[in-house]
Amino acid sequence: MTDAPIDLRSDTVTRPTPAMRSAMAGAEVGDDVFGEDPETNALEREVADLLGHQAGLFTPTGSLANQLGLRLHVAPGEELLADVRAHVVRAELGAAAVFSGITTRTWASERGRLVAAAVEAIAEPDAGAYSVSTTAIAVENTHNFGGGTVQPLDQVRAVQAYAREHGIAVHLDGARLWNAHVASGTPLRELAAGFDTVSVCLSKGLGAPVGSVLVGSREHVAAARVWRKRYGAGMRQTGFLAAAGRYAVRHHVDRLAEDHANARVLAAALDVDPATVDTNIVFAEVADPGAFVAEAAERGVRVMQLGPRAVRLVTHLDVSAEDAARAAEVLAALPR
Ligand SMILES: *Cc1c(COP(=O)(O)O)cnc(C)c1O
Repeated sequence: MTDAPIDLRSDTVTRPTPAMRSAMAGAEVGDDVFGEDPETNALEREVADLLGHQAGLFTPTGSLANQLGLRLHVAPGEELLADVRAHVVRAELGAAAVFSGITTRTWASERGRLVAAAVEAIAEPDAGAYSVSTTAIAVENTHNFGGGTVQPLDQVRAVQAYAREHGIAVHLDGARLWNAHVASGTPLRELAAGFDTVSVCLSKGLGAPVGSVLVGSREHVAAARVWRKRYGAGMRQTGFLAAAGRYAVRHHVDRLAEDHANARVLAAALDVDPATVDTNIVFAEVADPGAFVAEAAERGVRVMQLGPRAVRLVTHLDVSAEDAARAAEVLAALPR
């Protein structure tokens, strides 16, 4: 085996391209805790603008961007509602409870797809003195553990209308909002409209090495900036990272369409229903995921077990169409 392994475990494995590295090397930097890092200020402004919100805040991770958003909306002992497989409740290791004293209930879904009636059925906006009151709802677009699912905009709008009517805040975990935008053709501003706060990742399919941005109102972002420092994530010369993010937002959004096409090639090879592949994530059912992962790795393709009977394949900037075709051939030949 002479070829480098094809890594489909996650779109977080991407490495900066030569052009992105040049942008990073040339970044003008200053102390961001003093608000004096020009690249970071520009990134925050540009992403807020793209998403149609007033202000933005650079964070080292998407988890932190989400957790800063949630804590602005939910006081200790109050309740957040989220999908049963939401990243904020499954993959952030209990952060909402640990750091913010937030209790959580979840609604069930098919592939993470939002159904407003399911949210309204469990919401308790004014539970009174004996029950927990719902004060925030989290929506994830695309839905990672649902399989890269793009949320139906009419259901998003229905949840937002319900929330507004009952004084409930709505946070969008938009780690892969870029993918939702490219797959649906819906402008980013429309996808981000109606949410109190929105987080987006620069280090997934966009290929930046580090970083997310939280956007929202000036007041929310100012409060999140204080909490970011309190959590120990006030960083200094972040311009090198922000430059990578700015480069990614300029040059790596439209090309996500290639990742989506490559995901469909992989899905076809594994007899996965193409209707379950909205974007760059493929879930395939296999009898023995551990064996499947090991045998794929032996043949130069890295995939991840997610659940007792499933493996996840994610396409990204570092997976070319040729790589996808080769991986498809390898995976199709493995016992399932
Ligand atoms: C990756 C991801 C995040 C953020 O993850 P970090 O590793 O903390 O940057 C948040 N939400 C979703 C849906 C994700 O897939």
